[in-house]
Amino acid sequence: MKILVINCGSSSLKYQLLDMDTHNPLAKGLVERIGMPGAVLTHRTAAIGKKVIEADIPDHKVGISLVLEALVHPEYGVITGLEEISAVGHRVVHGGERFSKSVIVNEEVLEGLRECIELAPLHSPPNIAGIEACQKLMPKVPQVVVFDTAFHQTMPPYAYLYGLPYELYEKYKIRKYGFHGTSHKYVSQRAAKLLRKPLTELKLISCHLGNGSSITAIKGGKSIETSMGFTPLEGLMMGTRSGDLDPAIVAFIMEKEKLSSEEINDFLNKKCGVLGVSGVSSDFRDIEDAAAEGNYRAQLALQIFAHDVKKYIGAYAAVLNGVDAVIFTAGLGENSGSMRADICNNLDIFGILLDPEKNKIRGEEVDISAADATCRVLVIPTNEELMIALDTEALVK
Ligand code: ADP
Repeated sequence: MKILVINCGSSSLKYQLLDMDTHNPLAKGLVERIGMPGAVLTHRTAAIGKKVIEADIPDHKVGISLVLEALVHPEYGVITGLEEISAVGHRVVHGGERFSKSVIVNEEVLEGLRECIELAPLHSPPNIAGIEACQKLMPKVPQVVVFDTAFHQTMPPYAYLYGLPYELYEKYKIRKYGFHGTSHKYVSQRAAKLLRKPLTELKLISCHLGNGSSITAIKGGKSIETSMGFTPLEGLMMGTRSGDLDPAIVAFIMEKEKLSSEEINDFLNKKCGVLGVSGVSSDFRDIEDAAAEGNYRAQLALQIFAHDVKKYIGAYAAVLNGVDAVIFTAGLGENSGSMRADICNNLDIFGILLDPEKNKIRGEEVDISAADATCRVLVIPTNEELMIALDTEALVK
């Protein structure tokens, strides 16, 4: 079976065509600058390497039709006809409270997705546009939606409610939803395999550390607490997002800097985090380089980040009443041995001890804990596309 995975952002679209016998991608790529001048499709396959196609791409439907053309192209395609695609799995950012698992798309599901627009006004419309485009271009192929929020729907009310009047939850659905669920779910399943224990018996803390970062406490395979909240702004300080703040700071900055609600939202999402602290970059590689050259603010940004992650690990060890393994995943978690070392330094109270040699690895599935550690520390490269494809396969089979 071959499954196409699609991830539509506001002006971009990522895709992978996966062979479900091998779980390997046959082709993958990216459409950028949708609706803008200079739109481009970058298509990659093992046989041809990279093919760049420049075209006028006014909307997601045109973008997806170009992707489909590339997939069946006689020169750089990987299938002979679209009928080889058994199903399409779509990454959807927000499923609200309505969707606690992946589902096959029908009119009712689309209606439900439209109801979630209010919760994710930037992300939901392109997600829906991608689904509708595929329905038009491949009317006979089942479409499945896989939500970033769904994995966290198992959180109990005392974990997902804020200290706000309960009426606001009833009226506006203000609560913690959590994100990166597909990634946290995937790495927790891989951790159980690596540890050779049933997932149902494990207490895990999964640290997805990338441009956006979140941490999840996973008990018996279920998310019971996570660091992102009503939006992906809560929790850890990130590349450009502030993460947790005293909420009074928001009104204070708005008043001092004369910012509207839209402007403060933009500010907290795009100008803060390690970028704001360091003044160097939102990319941890640049910050690590600057810190190594003695840049104080870059050093501070790394210290704040490691301290933030440490605090969440401690909090979630308490929430779980113990922890069998801490998992590091995503760009920074998979690749930065120095950040993993800073985070795990002085966490022996939880039985966390790294093996410095093993911690040198990048982007491989490895147990990097010392022989005498009682809590394992695992590096597990995330694979959200494969998780989406597996969910899609399970639903259409
Ligand atoms: P996203 O959240 O956009 O999916 P990724 O998971 O790809 O992001 O993570 C991207 C981030 O990972 C980059 O901004 C960079 O800071 C960090 N990163 C990637 N490779 C390394 C590395 N070798 N060392 C340090 N940080 C890295």
